[in-house]
Amino acid sequence: MTESDESIASQFETGTVVYDPASDKVGEYRGQAGPYALLRPLGGGREWEARPESLRTATPGERLGAAVRAANSRSFPGASEAHSPAPVRDCAACADLAALRDDARARHDGSAETDADVLLRRHQRRYHAPLLGLREYALVPDVSAGAEYETSCTECRAGSGARQRPADVEEWQQGHTRETGHARYRRTVADYAVLAAR
Ligand SMILES: [Zn+2]
Ligand SMILES: [Zn+2]
Repeated sequence: MTESDESIASQFETGTVVYDPASDKVGEYRGQAGPYALLRPLGGGREWEARPESLRTATPGERLGAAVRAANSRSFPGASEAHSPAPVRDCAACADLAALRDDARARHDGSAETDADVLLRRHQRRYHAPLLGLREYALVPDVSAGAEYETSCTECRAGSGARQRPADVEEWQQGHTRETGHARYRRTVADYAVLAAR
């Protein structure tokens, strides 16, 4: 398979995770809708239409990032709720962020106040989860997704896309080198992990 083959949407199987540069989003390929490819956010949500010729298979990193964002938005449905978090006693970071927020509030700078709140909430989720009664998560390998192997030519940037076996990557390299004479590759291995509630 050549690189141009992979960018043709009709060749994506339903369920393939693809990257849409127009929206800068990763989604699951659902099929064609007229001239458009129909994509769905990972973890569900409203589908959107994308130009099929601009799509490519998402890299393992992009897939993981999108999966983590989807998991986060499920775990923290109240992420944008309006109430302001209180600083945790004896935590310098909490005190700093709360001071920033109080300062912004005193200046009637609503957007700076919101920013400080967001940072404070994020900091507290990360460092004070047990104290706040938030769920803690353990990082475990995702057994439903095997490791993925990928390589790209450092001379022309052509890429193999994610493959299930190292042999498939090597086969792609062999073909690319025969075709182009390019011989330098960057190789990556990725595995998937899930943050599971303890
Ligand atoms: Zn703190
Ligand atoms: Zn090349």
